[in-house]
Amino acid sequence: MSPSIQELKNKLQDLYQSAEQDLKSARSSSELYELKTHHIGNKSRFQKMMKEMKNLSPEEKPLFGKWLNEKKTALEEMYSSLFRELKNRELEQKIKTEKIDLSLPGPPSHKGGLHPVQLIIQKTVNIFKSLGYSVRTGPMIESDWNNFQALNIPTDHPSRDLQDTFYIDEAHVLRTHTSPIQVRSMLAEKPPMAILAPGKVFRRDNDVSHSPTFHQMEGMFIDTHVSMAHLKGTLSYFVKELFGTNTKVRFRPSYFPFTEPSAEYDCSCPICGMKGCPMCKQSGWMEIGGCGLMHPKVLELSHIPSEKWEGFAFGLGMERLAIVYYGIPHIKLFLENDIRFLEQFSFKGES
Ligand SMILES: [Zn+2]
Repeated sequence: MSPSIQELKNKLQDLYQSAEQDLKSARSSSELYELKTHHIGNKSRFQKMMKEMKNLSPEEKPLFGKWLNEKKTALEEMYSSLFRELKNRELEQKIKTEKIDLSLPGPPSHKGGLHPVQLIIQKTVNIFKSLGYSVRTGPMIESDWNNFQALNIPTDHPSRDLQDTFYIDEAHVLRTHTSPIQVRSMLAEKPPMAILAPGKVFRRDNDVSHSPTFHQMEGMFIDTHVSMAHLKGTLSYFVKELFGTNTKVRFRPSYFPFTEPSAEYDCSCPICGMKGCPMCKQSGWMEIGGCGLMHPKVLELSHIPSEKWEGFAFGLGMERLAIVYYGIPHIKLFLENDIRFLEQFSFKGES
């Protein structure tokens, strides 16, 4: 025979009392939580009483359901208030017993350092500053005119095929070289001038030995009676200052639309002293960049009279220089942000 509503009510009262007694006896918040789960959790006897309702009459069901809910809510509220009380007590206890030892050393902190590419930019700038050059900067998003046309690279010029360019829109690009800074300087200043333009440049190159972003430094000198001899003397001075007095420079004929004549220039391998090593591919020479006398048209496009003024320009690949200077085997190391690699340069900064 199924139990009557009175019997169920008595049973509910018993369960409630036993739960109340247990909850009040808990000594810690974790013990209290376990007791709560035991008494009113999903698998508790309390929960199972819900099933007993099916044997009651339709009039009795809501009445019993109401009692059941009242008791359960009362127990849940009791649990919450006891839990807060126990937690507070535990915290007070913790504060009393745990002491902070102020004499203990703190966790070690990582000291930041300059990236090897930034270090080599600093060194290069310092060397050219000693020759009277000063630094100019410009935006990374450039007009097509500053990046190409002002440098004697018209829209249909074949040399545009050489430069796979990131176009922002038809008239703007991510600069493919730092030469637009030279254009900006020519338009804003009057010769004689000696400027350096270091910065990040962008090309659609991405393979084992190329990265779509890298650093260049452009140098430009404008004065009267400027010759290739001045250019070679300047670059020789630079490599000797950077790599040592025995370093040599050699020019190889080349072609750029913005210089005439143009040359690629190499320096004698500072790693093997021209004996031949893997870094210089056994040739004894390292490629450093391109250079040449400024094309009269480039001067004219920036409103500098070419019958009076002459100039030279050179470009340096900064990752390339850092590779040679520090003997770094792989260009990808510059971009990986591996702290073990970067830490080796932390203390090598120079002002
Ligand atoms: Zn070598």
